[in-house]
Amino acid sequence: MQKLEQIYEGKAKRVYRTDDESLLIVDYKDDATAFNGQKKGTIRGKGVINNQMSNRLMQRLEREGIPTHYVRELSERETLVRRVEIVPLEVIVRNIAAGSFSKRYGVEEGRPFETPTVEFSYKNDDLGDPLIDATHIPVLGLATAEEIGQIRAYALRIDELLRAFWAECGVTLVDFKMEFGKLADGSIVLADEISPDTCRLWDSSTGEKLDKDRFRRDLGGIEEAYAEIMRRLEEHL
Ligand code: UDP
Repeated sequence: MQKLEQIYEGKAKRVYRTDDESLLIVDYKDDATAFNGQKKGTIRGKGVINNQMSNRLMQRLEREGIPTHYVRELSERETLVRRVEIVPLEVIVRNIAAGSFSKRYGVEEGRPFETPTVEFSYKNDDLGDPLIDATHIPVLGLATAEEIGQIRAYALRIDELLRAFWAECGVTLVDFKMEFGKLADGSIVLADEISPDTCRLWDSSTGEKLDKDRFRRDLGGIEEAYAEIMRRLEEHL
């Protein structure tokens, strides 16, 4: 597999073309941003952890019948993935109140939900990724009603599987963000990454935050938290 030119550089990853039209290489960086790019920094070793963690979790989800873009890990920071057309939505599942949910509704962080919720944001940096009502998604041509139904069903199933897995590791999955993509045949697959950058993960007994909130909120011990969450995952694979 030959790594050809870079076609995209995002906040945390670079994407390269390969000699196979249907495959891309993703290269994970240590760069971290928050608040729509207003806060910038580096989390040493993050790229390696996010690459490996995302791959382990996607492999596990694949085994449970969730289609993903994952193909093969190429190196510590590089992964071969299926080329997809990204559906421009951030799909967020919440199990416990935190972050923007708590702020928007004035609810204390840590209040558990009786059932998980799925919400969508429109992926658009200029607009600041605004929350979007599901009925507005087809109006804007971002996805069809049928695709939204499929995405919602996958999102809830992924939440169920990941919650159970993290529970084995003594970790509570508070909320997380997913992105989905469309293959050439139109089918929907899980894409992007699942990592401490995109999930809130709390130690189940102490409540300690083991995710990017340590960076967003200047809590310190970021590298240690990422290493700890990776250690837990590896222990329970
Ligand atoms: N999230 C993300 N990227 C974003 C926004 C949110 O990965 O651009 C994740 C975040 O890590 C958390 C979940 O989605 O696990 C819910 O985030 P929330 O809407 O509470 O926003 P935040 O408080 O992070 O701004």
